[in-house]
Amino acid sequence: MLNVPPQAFPAPSSQQRVAAGGRAKVPLKPGRSLMDWIRLTKSGRDLTGLKGRLIEVTEDELAKHNKKEDCWICIRGFVYNVTPYMEYHPGGEDELMKAAGADGTDLFDQVHRWVNYESMLKECLVGRMAVKPIAAPKGMLPEKKVLGASARDLTPSYDWFQTDSLITIVIYTKQKDMNAELVIVDCQDKRLRGEIIVDDHSYLVEVDLDHAVQEDMAVNIAEKVGKVEFILKKKDNIHWKMLGQALESHNTFIKRTERGLFYRQCKLVSKTEVTHDTKLLCLMLPRSTHLCVPIGQHVYLKQTIAGTDVVKPYTPVLPFLPLDFKEPPRHDGAHLYLMIKIYSCGLFTQALDHLQIGDYISVSNPEGNFKKSQVQTSEDLFLLAAGTGFTPMVKLLNFALTEVGCLRTVRLIFFNKTEDDILWRNQLEQLALKDERFEVQFILSQPTKDWVGKQGKISSSLLSECVKRSRKDSKVLICICGPTPFTEQGVQYLKDLGYSQEEIHTFTA
Ligand code: FAD
Ligand code: NAP
Repeated sequence: MLNVPPQAFPAPSSQQRVAAGGRAKVPLKPGRSLMDWIRLTKSGRDLTGLKGRLIEVTEDELAKHNKKEDCWICIRGFVYNVTPYMEYHPGGEDELMKAAGADGTDLFDQVHRWVNYESMLKECLVGRMAVKPIAAPKGMLPEKKVLGASARDLTPSYDWFQTDSLITIVIYTKQKDMNAELVIVDCQDKRLRGEIIVDDHSYLVEVDLDHAVQEDMAVNIAEKVGKVEFILKKKDNIHWKMLGQALESHNTFIKRTERGLFYRQCKLVSKTEVTHDTKLLCLMLPRSTHLCVPIGQHVYLKQTIAGTDVVKPYTPVLPFLPLDFKEPPRHDGAHLYLMIKIYSCGLFTQALDHLQIGDYISVSNPEGNFKKSQVQTSEDLFLLAAGTGFTPMVKLLNFALTEVGCLRTVRLIFFNKTEDDILWRNQLEQLALKDERFEVQFILSQPTKDWVGKQGKISSSLLSECVKRSRKDSKVLICICGPTPFTEQGVQYLKDLGYSQEEIHTFTA
C-alpha cells in the first residue's frame, strides 16, 4: 500500500486540482484525491447500483440519467455511472455534467484523451450502448477517412518484400519532408506497429507477423521522396507466404487525436540527483522501438498504482546542456531522459521514486503542439520557466543555439522558490559564458537574505523589464511553462504589454 496521507492532498496547487491547458481548476474537498477514489473503487461498494450486472443501455435510458445524483455518461460505446465520481473529478462536477445522459466521447477527447478512464472508472461500468454510439468505439476498425479527392490522394500506402534473411516493409508517405521524428515503430514479439505522422494525421501499419523476427530492426527514411522502410531480420531463413494478419487499425489514415495512445515498456537504467527533490531518470527504449521525441513534446508515463492505471505527462530533456559545441548533445535514439520533481505527497512521483534500476515503466508515443518553425523564423527567443517548467526549454535551447542561425538573443527567465531549487544552475551559467547570445536570469520567490539576484513572482513590471525586442520590429517568440496559473498570468501580462498570440507559445498536455 502506498504511504499517502488521505487528507494531505490534493494540495492547492496539485495537478489534481489544477488542470493543464488553462481549464477550470476546482478545489476538491479533502478526502477526494485520486488515491481516495482508488480506495473507494477497491472498497467493494456497488458503484453502479446494478449489483455487478452489466446491461445494454438504450439512448432513451441513457438520457434519463442526466442529474448530478444520477448521472450516466457514454464514452466510446460504454456507459458509466459517474455519480459516485462527481466529487473526485479534478475538472469539477459541472464539467462532468456537460455530458450527463449523453455521449461524452468528443468532450472527453478534447479535454483529456490521455486519461485512462477504462481503468479509473471500471467499477462504474453500467454496460454497452444497445445501439451504435455517435463516436466509433475505440478498438473497432476505424473507417478510412474520406477526405475529398485531393486529400485522398495523399493517403500513404505500403508494400513489402523479402530476401532470404530480411523482410522490408516500404511506406510511401507521399510527404516530402519526412524525418525520424515522424516515424514511430515498435516490434514486440510478432506484433509490428509502425506509425507515420503526416501533419495532424497518422498512418498505421499494424500486423501480427507471419513468423518471428529478431529484436534489432532498422528504419530507413528517404527524406526527399518520403519513402520509409522498416527492415526486419527473419529469425529463421524461411520463405514467408504473407506478411501476417492485419490488426484492427492496420492501413488506416486518421486524425492523430483519434488514435489511442500506444505504450511500450522501457527499462530504468539510471537515476541521478539534480536537486534535493528532482531527479534525472534515464529510460532505455526496447531495441525494437524507433522513437524520437520532438522538441516541446511530452510523453505519458503509465503506472499501475493500487490496481488502477495512472497516467501523467513528462517532457523529455537531454542528458546535459550544449556546452561543448563540437559535440552537441544528441538523442541517441535508445534513451529517454526525464527530469522529474518528486513531491512528498505526489501519487505518481512517489511511485516513480520507488522504481529500482532495471524496473520497467510504460512510455507512450509523444504528443504536443510545438513547431520548430516557430523558432526558425525568430530573432529573439524568450523562455519563461517556473520550476520543472524548465524541461521543455532544454531541447529548445539546444536547438536554438546549435541550429538556428538568425537568433540574436536567447534569454531564459527562470522562476524558482529558492536557490536550492534551481535546476542545472551551473550548466546554465556556463552556457551563458560560452555563448554571448544566451542570457539567464534567476528570479526567486522565497530567497534567503543572502540572495543578491532578482526576487519576486511573475508580474507585468518584471516582464516589461526582462522581455524586450532587440530591435524595434524584431521577430520574437516567447515560450512559457510552469504551474498553470503561472502560465496563464504570464500570457495575460505579455498580451497587456503588446505581444500577440502568435508570439507566445505555452506548453500544455
Ligand atoms: P499529485 O498527486 O498530482 O500531487 C500531489 C502533491 O504533489 C500535492 O499535494 C503537492 O504537494 C504536489 N504537487 C503536485 N503538483 C504540484 C505543483 N504543480 N506545484 C506544487 N506542488 C505540486 N513534471 C516534472 O517533474 N517533469 C516534467 O518533465 C513534467 N512535464 C510535464 C509536461 C506536461 C505537458 C504537464 C501537463 C505536466 C508535466 N509535469 C512534469 C507534471 C507531472 O505531469 C505531474 O503533474 C507531477 O509529476 C505531479 O504528479 P504527482 O501525481 O506526483 O502529484
Ligand atoms: P514550484 O517549485 O512550485 O514553483 C516554481 C516557481 O513558480 C516559484 O517561484 C513559485 O512561487 C512560482 N509559482 C508557483 N505557482 C505560481 C502561481 N500560481 N503564480 C505565480 N507564480 C507561481 O514549481 P514546480 O513544483 O516545479 O511545478 C512546475 C509546474 O510546471 C508543474 O505544475 C508542472 O505540471 C508544470 N510543467 C508543465 C510542463 C508542460 O509542458 N506543460 C512541463 C513541465 C512542468 P511560489 O513561491 O509562490 O510558490
